[in-house]
Amino acid sequence: MNIAIDGPASSGKSTIAKKLAKEFGLTYLDTGAMYRSLTYLVLSHGLSKDDIQAIVELAKTTPCEFKKGEEGQEVWLNGENVTLAIRGPEVTANVSEISAIPEVRQVLVDQQRAYIGRGRVIMDGRDIGTVVMPNADVKIFLTASAKERAKRRFKENQEKGLPADYEAIYQQILERDYYDSHREHSPLKKAEDAVSIDTSTIGIDQVLDKIRQIIHEKG
Ligand code: C5P
Repeated sequence: MNIAIDGPASSGKSTIAKKLAKEFGLTYLDTGAMYRSLTYLVLSHGLSKDDIQAIVELAKTTPCEFKKGEEGQEVWLNGENVTLAIRGPEVTANVSEISAIPEVRQVLVDQQRAYIGRGRVIMDGRDIGTVVMPNADVKIFLTASAKERAKRRFKENQEKGLPADYEAIYQQILERDYYDSHREHSPLKKAEDAVSIDTSTIGIDQVLDKIRQIIHEKG
């Protein structure tokens, strides 16, 4: 069984995906972390966003690694633990532009598809149900109002000790929503056969119940 979870920033994708992975014994792949890691590399190498050749080279030669840590999944790049760094404001402000480069998407989508061969995966992102795993058995599209998502990200940042300015977070969410859903290649879009779940007013447990029901109906 493969599960695709798509949706805008902070719609609850990774929280839900991690819980389902544990419950159903699936490998979890956080594709957003892959775009964030590449953006981190581009910024730390001081590369121009127009230097597509160099960016693609980095994407090919320095894929991020996922490791199991004490507090959950960790993201590593070149022996450096970047789990927190890739969630910082600079990466967040630049990731949509890097991920809109078609050549970048081609490389990262190939890396993501290599996981499907192993079977039993759950991936979250923006184009999983439409492009990366169009044959996924279960496709979920999570949504929530931008205000609710900003509130969640604000709380999450506070808990992680990351910068937490509600208004700035809200504006950044609106910008990323716009950029991610208006780019030419693989924009954020609900797959025709995906089930939409609005998480604005329901809790994690109710979302999980709905998805369990969908999984049982398919299975
Ligand atoms: O999911 P997360 O917010 O960490 O994703 C960061 C960014 O990576 C998104 O705003 C989007 O620009 C990009 N992304 C993407 N396709 C994916 C996953 C993430 O373009 N499958």
